[in-house]
Amino acid sequence: MKSYREELYFSTPHRRDYINITDKVESALQKSGIKEGLCLVNAMHITASVYINDDENGLLQDYDDWLENLAPHEPIGHYRHNNTGEDNGDAHLKRQIMGREVVVAVTNGKLDFGPWEQIFYGEFDGRRKKRVLVKIIGE
Ligand code: ZN
Repeated sequence: MKSYREELYFSTPHRRDYINITDKVESALQKSGIKEGLCLVNAMHITASVYINDDENGLLQDYDDWLENLAPHEPIGHYRHNNTGEDNGDAHLKRQIMGREVVVAVTNGKLDFGPWEQIFYGEFDGRRKKRVLVKIIGE
């Protein structure tokens, strides 16, 4: 069995951003040389997510509105976590509901997606350098 590991880096311009990283994961898969196996992609920070859904601008805005309704960034003092001196209590909750990781089957050297599936990095406390892990195993 072969395995391949790569870290992707992101420093988003906004506090919250939704970035299609499918091409970056496909590039890692090409480098791995793996034709049949599994590809794990996970955020390495507890205020960011990796998830799969459609790359459609209305949907991306819907996610952001929905998450802000569920866990508004402000007022900062609304979150006990922010008593630590941080201001990202909302970002921890947003990450929890959007998930930590995705696993995609690798078939014939390609990510074996369903219709419209794309891999996204969801950032909820950005404007600093953060990492995503890609781990691919198979043969
Ligand atoms: Zn925090």
